[in-house]
Parts: sequence; structure tokens; C-alpha cells
Amino acid sequence: MHFIDLKTQYAALKEAIDARIQRVLDHGQYIMGPEVRELEEKLEAWTGAKHCITVASGTEALLISLMALGIRPGDEVITTPFTFVATAEVIVLLGARPVFVDIQPDTCNIDPSLIEAVITPRTRAIMPVSLYGQPADMDEINAIAAKHGLPVIEDACQSFGASYKGKKSCNLSTIGCTSFFPSKPLGCYGDGGAIFTGDDALAKAMREIRVHGQERRYYHTRVGVGGRMDTLQCAIVLAKLDRFDWEIERRKQLGTRYNNLITANCQLQTAHCQLPTVHSDRTSVYAQFTVFVENRDAVAKRLNEQCIPTAVHYPVPLNQQPAYKAASGGSVTPVSEHVAQRVVSLPMGPDLGFVDQDRIVDALGQAVSATAGTQTA
Ligand SMILES: *Cc1c(COP(=O)(O)O)cnc(C)c1O
Repeated sequence: MHFIDLKTQYAALKEAIDARIQRVLDHGQYIMGPEVRELEEKLEAWTGAKHCITVASGTEALLISLMALGIRPGDEVITTPFTFVATAEVIVLLGARPVFVDIQPDTCNIDPSLIEAVITPRTRAIMPVSLYGQPADMDEINAIAAKHGLPVIEDACQSFGASYKGKKSCNLSTIGCTSFFPSKPLGCYGDGGAIFTGDDALAKAMREIRVHGQERRYYHTRVGVGGRMDTLQCAIVLAKLDRFDWEIERRKQLGTRYNNLITANCQLQTAHCQLPTVHSDRTSVYAQFTVFVENRDAVAKRLNEQCIPTAVHYPVPLNQQPAYKAASGGSVTPVSEHVAQRVVSLPMGPDLGFVDQDRIVDALGQAVSATAGTQTA
């Protein structure tokens, strides 16, 4: 069993992917070839966002977004500590300070009710993360941002394909950033990412920053980066789009099935195993299917012994990480700390079979009952 099965997907799409790759090899425009703009146009139509700018990775998408907003040393950016490191990394790289706001215990997304209290005259942006594939409370966050004249960047690296009140993730705020890392809901075969915005001036700045800040070749109007997504990776995502709607439905079906099976299993209905909530006004693409268990490490060990791979997203909140502790200004986020000790992600992906899923839930039930009693701090 794989944690994420990419081989079945390739087998299903082999002809289309191989043909797309061959076409790039034939025309030879490996950098900024026609597939780059073709993908951007398809993703603009798919998300409803006015502009899509493909970039080298999800991390680069976040960095270029902050650069386009003019984030500088001394600025503050409000975000969550319970995320992949890249979210805060790009803030610190620009000399700004991440201001960490705690999460909701049931969704693991930033708690909007805590945001306003940390806004200062130095605050320049709010950067929520749509964790595990479920959009954050974007309406509440956008309302606070509008009141204070701040832009909102959705870190949608895990939520491409999800929707929120009928709109697509990545098109829910000033800027949306996603990743095409192979294991993300829409992955390429290497590194890739995209930025979405409805703002013409920001889009222009992002397109320039992506290519060393040049307005035209060798005329540099701003400081930029080498941040392009290569043509071959764009071609692969284009081929994968044909199956993406089916994959999203399949992810939702498997997510619902996991929830029902785990809830139906009485042993798992205890305080020893709980499920995150997906709000009824939005959908999750379950980039990860994550549960909360007591004795997480013991449960994971038992699953791994039965050849069921697991992962922990994430074991340490960023304000507790050695590299970010100082920058975080000693922020205290008890919910993040509590959750970080209990989360474990189970195998997930559009090609996970029901038989395997049943086996995972059975093994989880056994592992939870066998380890119940020994408490996590
Ligand atoms: C994966 C991820 C990123 C970074 O994306 P890369 O393409 O790996 O650079 C950023 N934020 C979150 C929440 C992610 O899950």
C-alpha cells in the first residue's frame, strides 16, 4: 500500500501524458513554451480567477506574492503556526515577521476570532492556510482584512480543487497560491506552482518578478527571482486536468467513506480517536486525510507494522521550531500544540481502493483500542 498512489494515475493517463511530453520535446521550447500560457488560461477558466501565473513551486508562489505586495524588513504578516514550513519561511526570507495566530481545534485552520487582536500598524498582510484541503474561514478573514485595508493571501497549496460557498479555492481573496508538488491534489512530476489574483497590477508585478524583475528582456525594473515553472511540468499538468474532476469526486467519496467508517466503528467513537470537521458550506479535497488520536506515535507504529504507511502533518508548530522561535516573538498557541501531538494522516488519494480503505480503518480501530489507556501529555 502506498501513502499516495501516483502509479495508478500515470497508468490511467499514460497516453495523454506521454503525447504531451513528446510535443514539448518536438518543439523544444523548454522555458516559457506555449504550454505555460495554455495551462494558465485553463486554470483561470477552472478557478474563475482573472489571472494565473505559473511559478517554480508553491513556495515560490508565496514568495513572489509577498514580493509583489512589497513586503519588507520590519513588516508583519499574520499566519498560522500549524502548517508546512514554507508558509512562514517566505515571510522570514523577506526580513518580515510572522505573527502566529492559533487554530480552530476541529478544522486545524486559523481561528479568525483571534486575528484582529494582533493587528498592528506594521501588519501588511494576512496569510491563512487551507489545511488538509479545506478552505479556511475566508469570508471572516476577508472582512477583517477589508476593515484594516490589508490584502489576504490564501496558501492553497493543499486545497486546489476545493470550493467555498460555490467559489473555488485560490479565487477567494486578493491572492491564492497553490503547489503542483507531485503529492498535492493536482501534481506535476517535479516542482511547480501557481498564483491566482484578480488584481491587474499585482499580476503584472508577479509576471515580472517571476523572471528576474524584467519588464522586457534584460531591462530590470524591480528585483525578482528565477521562478518560472518549466514547459514540461506545465504539459504534464495539462494532461492531468482531463482526470481532475473525477479525482476530486473520488477524493470526496473516499473522505466521506473514511468519516462514515471511522464513526461507525464504536471503538473509534471514543475520546481516543476524533475526526476533523469539514464545514457544510465548503468542500475538502483531502490533500491529507488526518485524524486525531491519543498515543499517536504508538498508533502510527502499529499501522506501519501492518504495512499501512502514515505521516504526521505536522509534529511541531512553526513557532516552536528552532529556526522560527525567535522570529515568532514568543507567541503562545495552545491549540496548535495540542493538535500537533495527536494528528496522524492515513493513506489517501483518488486511486485508494475501498478494500484497502476498509483494512486501514480496521487496523486503526485495533491500534486505537490496543494503545488506549496510555495518555498523551
Ligand atoms: C506543499 C506546501 C507548500 C509548498 O509547496 P512546494 O511546491 O513544495 O514549494 C506551502 N504551503 C503548504 C501549506 C503546503 O502544503
